[in-house]
Amino acid sequence: MAPRCFAAAMVRGNSDAMTAASPMIAQFLALKDTAPDCLLFFRMGDFYEMFFDDAVAAAATLDIALTKRGEHLGVAIPMCGVPVHAADVYLARLIKGGHRVAIAEQIEDPAAARKRPGKSIVARAITRVVTPGTLTEAHLLDPKRANWLAAVAPGPVTKDSAPGPVTGLAWCDLSTGAFATRACAPGEVAAELARLAPAELIYPEGITDTQLAHAELSRGTPRPPLDFAPARGEARLKARFGVATLDGFGVFTAPEIAAAGALLAYVEATAMAAVPLLAPPRPEIPGSTMAIDAATRTSLELARGGGSVGGGTRAGSLEAAIDRTVTAGGGRQLSADLAAPLTDAALVGDRLDFVGWFAGAAILRPRTRDALAAMPDVARALGRLAVGRWTPRDLGALRDGLALALALKTALSAPSLTTPALLTATLVRIGAHGGLVEALRRALVPEPPIDAGTGGSIAPGYDPALDALRETARDGRCAVIALEAKLRAETGVAALKIRHNGVLGYHIEVVARAADPLLGDARFIHRQTLAGVVRFGSVDLSALAATIAQAGDHALAAEAAHLEELRDQVLAEAAAITETAAALARLDVAAALADLATTENWVRPTVDATTAFHVEAGRHPVVEAAVKAARGVFVANDCNLSADERLWLVTGPNMAGKSTFLRQNALIAVLAQAGSFVPARAAHIGVVDRLFSRVGAADDLAQGRSTFMVEMVETAAILSGATARSLIILDEVGRGTSTYDGLAIAWAVLEAVHDDLQCRCLFATHYHELVALKDRLRSLATACVTAREWKGDLVFLHEVRPGAADKSYGLAVARLAGVPAPVLSRARSVLARLEANRDRTGGLAAGLGNLPLFGAAPAVAAGDALRDRLAAIDTDAITPREALDLLAELQALAQPASD
Ligand code: ADP
Repeated sequence: MAPRCFAAAMVRGNSDAMTAASPMIAQFLALKDTAPDCLLFFRMGDFYEMFFDDAVAAAATLDIALTKRGEHLGVAIPMCGVPVHAADVYLARLIKGGHRVAIAEQIEDPAAARKRPGKSIVARAITRVVTPGTLTEAHLLDPKRANWLAAVAPGPVTKDSAPGPVTGLAWCDLSTGAFATRACAPGEVAAELARLAPAELIYPEGITDTQLAHAELSRGTPRPPLDFAPARGEARLKARFGVATLDGFGVFTAPEIAAAGALLAYVEATAMAAVPLLAPPRPEIPGSTMAIDAATRTSLELARGGGSVGGGTRAGSLEAAIDRTVTAGGGRQLSADLAAPLTDAALVGDRLDFVGWFAGAAILRPRTRDALAAMPDVARALGRLAVGRWTPRDLGALRDGLALALALKTALSAPSLTTPALLTATLVRIGAHGGLVEALRRALVPEPPIDAGTGGSIAPGYDPALDALRETARDGRCAVIALEAKLRAETGVAALKIRHNGVLGYHIEVVARAADPLLGDARFIHRQTLAGVVRFGSVDLSALAATIAQAGDHALAAEAAHLEELRDQVLAEAAAITETAAALARLDVAAALADLATTENWVRPTVDATTAFHVEAGRHPVVEAAVKAARGVFVANDCNLSADERLWLVTGPNMAGKSTFLRQNALIAVLAQAGSFVPARAAHIGVVDRLFSRVGAADDLAQGRSTFMVEMVETAAILSGATARSLIILDEVGRGTSTYDGLAIAWAVLEAVHDDLQCRCLFATHYHELVALKDRLRSLATACVTAREWKGDLVFLHEVRPGAADKSYGLAVARLAGVPAPVLSRARSVLARLEANRDRTGGLAAGLGNLPLFGAAPAVAAGDALRDRLAAIDTDAITPREALDLLAELQALAQPASD
């Protein structure tokens, strides 16, 4: 096997290697030189071949045979290949395996190459570079998720090497043409990328991890910094969209333009000649969506389920639980809505009105959903048409989809006083596309084939010339049948057949033992003798075959020309079709959420600009479904984070339902602001600007951080990021360290949330000692999730009630979990000892209640003498010298007793 760096060594400026190479290998190496970071698919007839290191890498990823072909510089050349007709499957696997693939096609007819003097080989060129973010093939993409390609452009680094104040983000989905930008503070980039979960991220080569988190840098693709120059980006964008100024698209910051320009440069570089669909960029207004960082998304399982249920896939996530959309476009829209709940109460209200209208439309809703279910994926069909990787079926999909869209628009347009504003606005976006649909209808057969090469896409009667060609071919085939009968009669060979294959074309075939009459007849030209059969040609048959072939070729050419024409006609309306597709997706989401709300008994939340958070009888959508599936009953619970009880300290035994309660309230906020009804009897949500959810003790070993470190990094992020409008869910913070440390941290965090952040917060803990804070923190309320011990067993009631849990029931839970009886009995006696001690000393939190609220607090264990001495100091009356002496005295008092 060749060493891994084999090709690279030869490619890079090694002219000897080039001279020594065969013409074909020289061509391969030259192409490879232009795409060094890609595997090169080198088209040879019906195969894409790979050579050298590419072959070694691809064979390993694809698990296909690695062979050898000739030699280069005295070493055998490793080679492997994949058939062109099945290339997509292999491409998908290579892309999943982390590779990028450059496709080099033959760009001339091999016959033309043969005509050139000398030993000429077919000209080849790279026509496309396939990367995770630039895919458009339907079967390589998740139909219900956008395939984002994102670019990040950090602002110029400041003098003290801090990142610039604004980082530009741009993202696009080449399968649908969506294109947006956003200006972020550097600290927000990770959260935005978590929201988008891009398939591919590009960034300027050479940026440091102070400008972009290491995790992103390691996953992304570096690009030349020049591509990120704002002036270049602006020029590129203007040229692409044919405008003299970008102002018409919105207001962009320079880093946003830099990111969008780099994105466009990358798209153009990978797509080569094909021009993918791209709508003009749309700047998102900062703060217009709820900020949800990566840890919160993971902890709430918004888009991906965690643990053993989903293992990071969609299963078990909120998205999967509520998705009742019936179109792929609707699924993508719902996914985007949930990933970015709105912060403008009026816009949320519009969406809720729309859902409410569908919820009340008992007849129209199922009709609309049935109509939508029949709708093909118009947006992605259009995307494929734009990049030139399309089939006649895509034209059929557009014809059917656009016609259905118009029918739906008409059905929903009946004027009514109650029509919600968003429905009206959505219907306006659905274009008539009358001329186009009519043209497609006339031109295409009802079910156009998936392969343009076989013909049969254009309807009879559309083009008389095409009909005539088809007629000729058909007549020819009839004439072949007639000729067969005639030859049978003339030769007396009843088994004589006229057949067709790819090598000989039309030919006469007889079984060997009946071949004699033909072998002796000058009219029959011997072509082939095989075991058992002999094949002949004849002048008549050749003439017929030529007519059929010519008519067939011409018919195919005519069809291809018509299809191209239709494609151009569709692309001329691309922008309007994209609007129609977006409107259909919005309709689907509203009808789907209404369906969910009515069947699952969800209510319309009130969302406004207050800081209310009042949920009556709330439920957890995912846990409720699981509990119901197990024939259980989900217990609904209230949560009211009112101004004087904005921080709830939730206690209760393990497994009682604390996490469920915390999360359900966060999910209700997400759902409400995404424009969905919520699983509750009533809900009033004051807009949440940032949502934080943390669970103590979740190891992130992949990133090499210990449980406790992760917990503290995340806690720090909350304390620095939350505002008075935020909602914080803290579940067992401080669990990952020793009891004292953990309690101390939980205590301090609780105080900081209460006093400094002053935002709404649910704080679940097993440190019952924290309950003592209730007397000190004015807006803190205690709640507990109930359980009862009954005949020695623990029964979870899952009810959230005011007040603190009476005990932690840890041993009862251990018993439930099957911890052996001797261990339990030993634990019981240890506990009895500990409790006796606690009663004597006043418990773990003894003395904490008297801690000063602010500033550096003295050590917890300070003895009475120390406290008394401190209290006696008159700080106004002592000199610096006396202060120093006092300090020494206090230190001595603080020493632990030596007995
Ligand atoms: P904790 O955080 O207190 O340890 P969880 O919230 O993880 O408990 O809940 C444990 C299990 O209890 C859940 O998986 C679910 O099966 C059940 N559960 C939780 N809340 C409820 C509820 N409100 N109604 C019914 N079952 C519930």
